[in-house]
Amino acid sequence: MNSDPAARWEEILRSRYWDEMLALAGSDMSSLYVKFSDLERCDPEFASELLERPEKTLGSAGAALHQIDLPKDAHLDRVQVRITELPGRFRIGQLNSAYIDRLIAIEGRVVKADKARSKRVSSAVFLCLRCGNVFLQDLTRVDRADPDIKCSNHECGRRGPFRPLINSSGYVTAQKIRMQESLEDIKEGVPPRELDVELEDDLVGRASPGDRIIVNGILKFYPRKSQASKSTDFDLFFKSISLENKGVGV
Ligand SMILES: [Zn+2]
Repeated sequence: MNSDPAARWEEILRSRYWDEMLALAGSDMSSLYVKFSDLERCDPEFASELLERPEKTLGSAGAALHQIDLPKDAHLDRVQVRITELPGRFRIGQLNSAYIDRLIAIEGRVVKADKARSKRVSSAVFLCLRCGNVFLQDLTRVDRADPDIKCSNHECGRRGPFRPLINSSGYVTAQKIRMQESLEDIKEGVPPRELDVELEDDLVGRASPGDRIIVNGILKFYPRKSQASKSTDFDLFFKSISLENKGVGV
């Protein structure tokens, strides 16, 4: 087995998703939907690595998409891999800090959907046209008006030219929705728990209040804003990877 995750992605995507990649290369769509069961069938160890360390593993999927040679000059530079149909689903009330940073599926009803907005991203992917290196650039400490970016390949180290790949504008369309446990899922008299879910890019606008949805994503937290106390409390939120909308009243 190949231990380089980008090479592993490349093998799996080539063998299972070739037709889908060809179709995407000729379209303006930006998501390649990959069923978790397909990954599990190809490589169970890799699939469980994805559940445990989703951000790192999905990051290497971007590099893999770039490496895959497609016919003619088609390319998948802007495409993101989105995992669907995760095993098991959680109610919001079941979530706790043990699930932070893991890839999980949650189910519930949308109670609120904010307006879409433009959000600054914290990192972007660039291709160095000098040496072919694909690298993830932290954007939190660069001047966005005049970015001084250096190729991460130490033998190269040049300041461009770069071809911008994923998130290179530094902005992405985002939307916050609030999900609530469905009343039919909890005991009578127990107040339903809620969770904020962040949708990005082509997931924005895919869910409205009243819809019952399943969201696959990564559980994250931020410290609770309180000046008075030095408490270690935190609030959970959910960074979505893909979404299945079952519609109203289901
Ligand atoms: Zn370079």
